[in-house]
Formats: sequence, structure tokens, C-alpha cells
Amino acid sequence: ALDAIRAKEDKVHAFVTVAEEEAVLKRAGEVQKQIEQGILTNVLAGVPVAIKDNMCTKGMLTTCSSKILENFIPTYTAEAVLNLEKAGAVIIGKTNMDEFAMGSTTETSYYGATKNPWNENHVPGGSSGGSCAAVAAEECFYALGSDTGGSIRQPSSFCGVTGIKPTYGTVSRYGLIAYGSSLDQIGPVAKDVTDCAAILEAISSYDKKDSTSINRKDLDFTSALVDDVKGMKIGIPKDYFKEGLDEEVKEAVLHAAKVLEEKGAIVEEFDLGLVDYAIPAYYVIACAEASSNLARFDGVKYGYRTADYEGLHNMYKKTRSEGFGAEVKRRIMLGSFVLSSGYYDAYYLKALRTKAMIKQEFDKAFAKYDVILGPAAPSTAPLLGSSLDDPMKMYLGDIYTISVNLAGLPGISLPCGIDKKGLPIGLQLIGDCFNEKKIIQMAYAFE
Ligand code: GLN
Repeated sequence: ALDAIRAKEDKVHAFVTVAEEEAVLKRAGEVQKQIEQGILTNVLAGVPVAIKDNMCTKGMLTTCSSKILENFIPTYTAEAVLNLEKAGAVIIGKTNMDEFAMGSTTETSYYGATKNPWNENHVPGGSSGGSCAAVAAEECFYALGSDTGGSIRQPSSFCGVTGIKPTYGTVSRYGLIAYGSSLDQIGPVAKDVTDCAAILEAISSYDKKDSTSINRKDLDFTSALVDDVKGMKIGIPKDYFKEGLDEEVKEAVLHAAKVLEEKGAIVEEFDLGLVDYAIPAYYVIACAEASSNLARFDGVKYGYRTADYEGLHNMYKKTRSEGFGAEVKRRIMLGSFVLSSGYYDAYYLKALRTKAMIKQEFDKAFAKYDVILGPAAPSTAPLLGSSLDDPMKMYLGDIYTISVNLAGLPGISLPCGIDKKGLPIGLQLIGDCFNEKKIIQMAYAFE
């Protein structure tokens, strides 16, 4: 993995930090010994992993790809990463991302954009673009990403890898630097469904340190790796195939449905309501939570502090003006606005009601179907530099992923074809809450 990083990193730029070779080899040696002694038995023992740079790693720089955390070295490790370490994982580095996970292209990183390993003129997607590019470029064997509105599934689709966003509450958020706390989940990015299931099994746990953690007893996700979909019901939301969806993506995704039908699944189209309301509701809620979560970066406790200032207020102002990038500032302002008195009812409260109604739409669908099938993104990876000056267009690209976060559901994205430009196309399978096994089983059968 270190050799691959040395060979490819100049072109791909998937990492913010690569772990020191000496430390990596020392850890690998220790793990090797414990494998030989039979202490470590997990399949992940000794396998190099890359971690998205919004998860705290004790003693290793954790920047969220922001200037404001350019010097932040955490004193503790995120629970999900700790779970991996217990399984014997070897951390090889921290991956690039959109600043504070806000974006869909990994171009808002303060440390420069990551390139898509399939074609370096294209973006890898985002915000977990570094994690997905690192796996696609084989700079590591798997990675962890985080998904607030599609940040695991969309870049997985753009990079031709597989990623899972679990049911909200399945993986501890302790040590994940918060963006939209009610939406954020950590999940695996890997080469195939089998790896993803094993990784998800390792990182999931009940954690008292995360008040939204759920004590689940059904975390044996690898038991769902069964090549059988006979009689399983698939619902295809008609609204996901309207205007805005690239023709080649549409064809590949519908072909995937055919493949599953031939394997014995029952496929049916249906009307999923409120699809058009998901983006406005998501951006109101995510920005509101972000404006509150990012209030802690003020130059006092940790991170960047402006060089010259007069008094405390001026220090806050200059630190935050200099430390945050344009997209983060836009969202803090939008979030503060929708939470302010006079606007709270009109925007924030209304968005919360919309969120509840979207969940009800999914409840209705899952009364009939085991899995909902659709695209992961409306297109394949866009060209670098083509998204940044039109944030609205970028936000609209989240149409198929964000309602899954609003409803707390699990979703998987896996490759289902290649377009004429030679870029991968992603298929998304969505399950009801706690039904990761159904989407894993179906993805495994399709693969
Ligand atoms: N693209 C979405 C956003 O910018 C989703 C990001 C994410 O899931 N972290 O908010």
C-alpha cells in the first residue's frame, strides 16, 4: 500500500496525511505477531486502511480538509476507528474530503482537489472523495467514509467502488467531527460487497458515548452474503427516472433491475412521494446543524488562530474569516439564518416536518418492498472545476442520496456499468431501517 501511495499519490492526491512508514511497519509487525499467536482472528487483521480526515485519530493530524484544523492532533480516536484497530487494522493515512464534508466533489478541500483515478480530469465525487479514490487507485484495501447526504454512496459510484451508509445509530459517531449530527453516519468503502459487509460488521457497536447509538443484536452482516434473491420484492421509484437523469445511467440502472429480476426478484414501479422536497429540507437541516456544530472552531481551544487581532471578538471574527472556506461560510450563514427568530418556524421547523413526512413515504414503500432500487447519482463524475461556481446545481446532484439520510435508512452503492466516457456508473439499493442485510444480500447477488 505504501508503494502504491508513493507511485500514485502525485496524480490522485487522495490523502491529506500519509502515516509514517516506520510507524506503519511497526504496527504491522505487532499485528502479525498477534495473528500468529491466534490473538487476532478477524479477516481485517493486518490489512491497511485509510480513514477520512473527519475522524479523530489519536496522535495523527485530523484536519477535516480545513485550514481551521490545519494543526489539530486529537488526543483520542473515534470509536469506529478504535473498533477497526481492535480487529487488527493498520491505518495507512487520512483521506482528503470536501471541507467539513460539505460538498459533492472533494474540490472544497483546503489542501487541493482529489482526482478521479479512472480519469484525472474528473472529480472523484464527495465528500468522501479521498477515501473512494484511494480504494479505486489501490492505495489501500479499504477505507472509512462518512455520509450525511450521500458522501459515501455518491463518490463510491463515481469511483467504481462499493460503499455502505448504515442505518442511523449503527456506527458510533463518537470522534467523528460533526457536520449534520442527526444525519451523519460512518460507513465502509471497499472493492466489493463482501469486504464492505466484513468492515461494517467490525465498525458497528453500541456506544454509550454517542447518545444516538442503538444497541442492535443483528450486526452479523457477513451472514447476508448469500447469492439468492428469489421472491425478494424490489420497488423502483418512478420519480427517480424523470428529467435530470443521464440516459446512460438510467439504462445501466434499469438493466441491473432486469438482472435481479432474472435471478428471481419481483420488480415493480411505484410512486414515492415528496422526492422534490428532499433537497430543500436537507439543506435547511444540514446547514442549521452545521452552523451550530461549527461554532466551536473559534481559535480559542484548538486549531488555527489568526496572527494579529485586537480583543476577543476581533480574534473570533478574523480566525473564522481566515480559517473557513467559501462553501463552509455559505452554509454557516444559511444555517444561522434558518435558526434565527422569525425564520425558525418558516424554515427549520418546516424542514423538520418535511423530514418526518419523507420518512412516512419510505414506511409506506417498505410495507410493500424489501429493497428500493435506483441510481446513486444523476450522472457519472463531472469534470474538475465544473461544479464549484454553481452551488445550486451541485446541491441538485444529491437528489437520490439525501432522502435516505433524512429517513435514517441504510443504502449501498455499487458499480453497475461504465459510460461512453469510460467512467463508472453506480447502482443504489436502499433498505428499511435495520435491514442492511437485505441490501447486502441483493448487492451480493447482483455483483
Ligand atoms: N453533498 C452533500 C452536502 O454537501 C452531502 C455531503 C455529505 O454527505 N457529507 O451536504
